[in-house]
Amino acid sequence: MLVADGIHWFRVKIPVGPKHGNIYLLEDSDGPVLIDAGFPSDEVWTELTAQMSRVGYAPRDIVTVIGTHEHQDHAGASARLRELFGTTVWLHESAFLNTNRFANNRDYWSPTGRQWWSRIGLPADELALMEQDFNNTPPIEPFEYDRGLTEGEILTIGGHDYQVIWTPGHSEAHICLYDMRRRILFSGDHVLPKITPHIARDHATRPNPLQDYKRSLSKVARLPLDLVLPGHYRPFKNGTGRIAEIQQHHEERMRAVEQTLGHKGRTAWEITWDVFGDNPSLVDRQLACSETIANLYYLAACGRVDIEEGDPVTLYSRSGKLTGYIGSRCPPVEAPART
Ligand SMILES: [Zn+2]
Repeated sequence: MLVADGIHWFRVKIPVGPKHGNIYLLEDSDGPVLIDAGFPSDEVWTELTAQMSRVGYAPRDIVTVIGTHEHQDHAGASARLRELFGTTVWLHESAFLNTNRFANNRDYWSPTGRQWWSRIGLPADELALMEQDFNNTPPIEPFEYDRGLTEGEILTIGGHDYQVIWTPGHSEAHICLYDMRRRILFSGDHVLPKITPHIARDHATRPNPLQDYKRSLSKVARLPLDLVLPGHYRPFKNGTGRIAEIQQHHEERMRAVEQTLGHKGRTAWEITWDVFGDNPSLVDRQLACSETIANLYYLAACGRVDIEEGDPVTLYSRSGKLTGYIGSRCPPVEAPART
C-alpha cells in the first residue's frame, strides 16, 4: 500500500512479538531501498516477494536495506538479500559493538548470562525452564552490514531527505528516520501505536537503557509529526500524542516499581511479581523481569534505589539516603559511560 509519495508499506507475518512486522519500500532512481527487511524466514521472504511484485519490484532490485535496529524481526532478512544479490545493509554504527559482543544468540546464555539470571532471584525450576527454552530456540546467526549510520546524518532517497536520529533504549543500535519536509517519521520499535516497546536491562544491554529510552523519546517528542511509520501495527497520525502516552506509561511503571521497595533488600524477581503479577508465559515473565530491572537501574542512577550486588542474589532497596521521594520526578543524571 502506498502510504506517502514513493513509500510503500508491506505487512508480513513474524513468529515473534506482535506477530506482524512492517517493511517499507522507498522508491529511488538507483533502485528501491527497504526500511527493515523482516524476520529471516522463508515465509517472510515469500510474502515480501509477493507484495513487492504487486508494485513492480523483485527482491533482487533492492539496492540497500536500512535496519531501524539490530533485532532479527527487523534486520534479520537483510542477510539473505546481501548474500544473494549483494544488497548493501546499513545500521546504526553501534550495531558493530553488538555484533562483536554476541556472535549469535547462543552466546546470550553464556556463563555471564547464567550468572546474571541466577542473581535475579529466579527459583531453580524457573531458571531451568528459561535455559531449556533458550536451548530449544534455533540458533540465529549474526548478520553483517556494510555501513554504520551516524546521528544527524542525512540520507537522500527518492529526492527526499531523511535525518538519522539515534534512539537507543529498546535496543542499542535503534534509529528513527525523519523526513523534516513531509514530517514523516520511520519509528521502528521506538514509538509503536498499540504497545509500549520493551526496555530491558540485563547483562547484554547498556547500563541504563530506560534512561537511554526516555532521552530518545524526548528527541522525537520535539519533532512536528504528520505521519508515523512504525515497525509493527498500522501507520498512524497522532505521533506526538502517542509519545506523550508512552512517557506517561513509563512514569507510572516507575512509580509502581518504586512503591514495592522498602529498606530491606528484595530480589528483582520478587519485585517483578508485585508489579506485574503472575503470567502463564515464560517469555512474558522474562520480559517483565528485565523491564523491572531497567526501572531499578534507572532509579538507582537517580539515587533512589540501592543495589547490593551479591552472591547468590542481587538485592534492591529504597535508598537509605532519601525519604519521601516516591512519585517525584527523577532528577537529570549524566549519561552512563558506553560499554
Ligand atoms: Zn525490536
